[in-house]
Amino acid sequence: MPRAPMRPSRLHVYIGVIMAAGLATFAVSVVATPWDQVLELSPLWAVAFLMLSALAGEVRPVVLHVSGTEKRSLGTSMPFVLALIPVAGATTAMIAQLAAGFLIAARHRIPVTKLLFNIGQNVLMVAVAAWVYAAIAGTDPLAPGGEIGTRHVAALLAGGIAMVVANQLMVSAAVALAASRPLLHLARQDFGFLSLSQLVLIAVAGAAVDLAHHGLLGLVLLGAPVAAAHVFAAMGARHAHEARHDQLTGLGNRGRLGDELRAALSTSRHRADAGPGLVLLDLDNFKDFNDALGHAVGDGILREVAKRLVLEAPPCASVHRLGGDEFAIVVLGGLSETQRVARAVLASLATPLAVDSLELLVRASAGVAVAPLHGGDAASLMKNADIALYHAKLERDRVSTYSPEFAVNTVERLQLLVDLRAALHERALHVAYQPQVDLATGRTVGVEALARWNHPERGAVGPDEFVPLAEDSGLIYALTDIVLDAALADLARWRDAGHELRLAVNISARHLSDLATPSIMRAALDRHGVPASSLVLEVTETAIFTDPVRADLVLGALRQLGIAIAIDDYGTGNASLNYLRRLKIDELKIDRSFVRGVGGDPQDLIIVRSTVELALALGLRVVAEGIEDADAGAAVRALGPVIGQGYHYGRPMSASEIDLRLGAEASTPALDRR
Ligand code: C2E
Ligand code: MG
Ligand code: MG
Repeated sequence: MPRAPMRPSRLHVYIGVIMAAGLATFAVSVVATPWDQVLELSPLWAVAFLMLSALAGEVRPVVLHVSGTEKRSLGTSMPFVLALIPVAGATTAMIAQLAAGFLIAARHRIPVTKLLFNIGQNVLMVAVAAWVYAAIAGTDPLAPGGEIGTRHVAALLAGGIAMVVANQLMVSAAVALAASRPLLHLARQDFGFLSLSQLVLIAVAGAAVDLAHHGLLGLVLLGAPVAAAHVFAAMGARHAHEARHDQLTGLGNRGRLGDELRAALSTSRHRADAGPGLVLLDLDNFKDFNDALGHAVGDGILREVAKRLVLEAPPCASVHRLGGDEFAIVVLGGLSETQRVARAVLASLATPLAVDSLELLVRASAGVAVAPLHGGDAASLMKNADIALYHAKLERDRVSTYSPEFAVNTVERLQLLVDLRAALHERALHVAYQPQVDLATGRTVGVEALARWNHPERGAVGPDEFVPLAEDSGLIYALTDIVLDAALADLARWRDAGHELRLAVNISARHLSDLATPSIMRAALDRHGVPASSLVLEVTETAIFTDPVRADLVLGALRQLGIAIAIDDYGTGNASLNYLRRLKIDELKIDRSFVRGVGGDPQDLIIVRSTVELALALGLRVVAEGIEDADAGAAVRALGPVIGQGYHYGRPMSASEIDLRLGAEASTPALDRR
């Protein structure tokens, strides 16, 4: 995974310069310090107190949570180091600052390059403060100051501000070089974050210097406001953190996402390559998980998904939760980088999540929008990534990048959804039946029920268009009810007329993850007085893999009732036959893409032949879908006792056409319709 671009050479030169300047400054200071004056004029107890306080301020820094996993803390050594400048001279202050720096290094086991940089940085920031202080107060920066007046305190405050600014600039420059980002922007970001707390600390330094000349008690009493500052800062930071973060996952929330997008947009203006990119991610069928397994498991899923996303997102990306099952990722990169991140995070969900001893396969869809291509501000990026996400859900491409046509399409689809809802409400859908033929005898042994919709304005709308719409919106339950009721009524009629037929009905992923499906099927069969053994439910491999654990339960219960299960479009998913066999299915429908060419294409014939042989050996019934001509029919018939379905044997037709067909077959028993 490519990291943020590094330029080690320039960064290392910079670190070297800071360190060399710091060491030289320190050496000169040590040599030039009038140590006899320091020893004589500095109150020993005050120096000891300030030094200890400086060290304590780094042992117990104020912890500011910045994100769920990453912590940022603020040491409080600065005011005491600052106070040491007038009390004991700049060199003593440098020694205190260096000691505090080493303490931090030891606590965090920081790498050597950073330690070397810190040494230089620590000396230089004190030197800057001392120089500004001495210039304003009119004293020698290296000697202790003696009596302290208002002018000295004011000078010290100015020195403190200079110290904070110098420190931030040195650090921001290092980060800017490491991450190739503009210095000014970084410096501004950090100043905003730290400036208020630093200013409070500088004021503490002023008070400490003043009190140092009035005895130890004053200094000790100063401990109280410093401790209070610690507590309040920590509380404030926690509240600020809570306001910007999602409680459940610790990720940034919608507000923080907006800030981050705006910040990224303003930096990217300085960059030649495009960006930032926004990935919106939504879990598929999360509501079903929540409903069936309870909210505790639902929460567990969200936490686990958050972990996966954070783990998979590269350093140039940050992950947020927008609420519900929606996540967002800001990518500091252009279109291809953002698409890569989107694909990678979706792929990270391909292995099941462990939640409460359950292994759950949670899928997601993602929409991508990238500045400036798909919007120049945060609001339009959000809107367009949302449209792309909606598109990804409808088209099931999983990752979909915004395109202006989507907006039009989306409106059209929403309209179609409204119309479909109305059609279902009025039960305006009807069912066509496609015959399934025993290839050995040419007789119709079954029919597949296929939903048909005549749209009042658009005419016939194909199931490939409205079934996904129904699946995504939950209307699929109503659709299946209508198809099942109409088809079972027709089947009951055919049975009464003496025709033994199997009826195949297509069901969707949603039905497989709904534990109520078996009892709904049972009730429908009872209503029409049809035996369960006449019903075949067709499911796809993809539908099973959406939620394999519950699919297994539901399929088991359906078979228990005596209903047969067929795997539809076999060969287009990636299930192994061995896996399917463990699910105890009854029938395999080989997808028409393999069957179509079987009369002429030797490759297709090899695939179909081996599938037929294996399926028959496993005791499954085999249906070859999409037999379009006599050659394909003959080729499949030669493979064994297979059932054929396809235009060659009959297109999907109305119930009355099936009546005629069955009647004709009954009166011509020897008819060879092969
Ligand atoms: P499917 O279950 O694989 O249905 C077979 C599809 O193949 C039907 O398309 C049928 O008209 C078509 N077909 C049959 N023989 C041939 C042939 O020889 N050549 C070619 N090129 N195509 C052939 P249809 O009716 O458009 O249905 C498409 C898909 O819509 C179905 O695929 C099924 O997945 C879904 N569907 C249809 N009705 C329902 C329903 O009531 N519920 C659900 N959940 N899905 C349905
Ligand atoms: Mg089917
Ligand atoms: Mg099929």
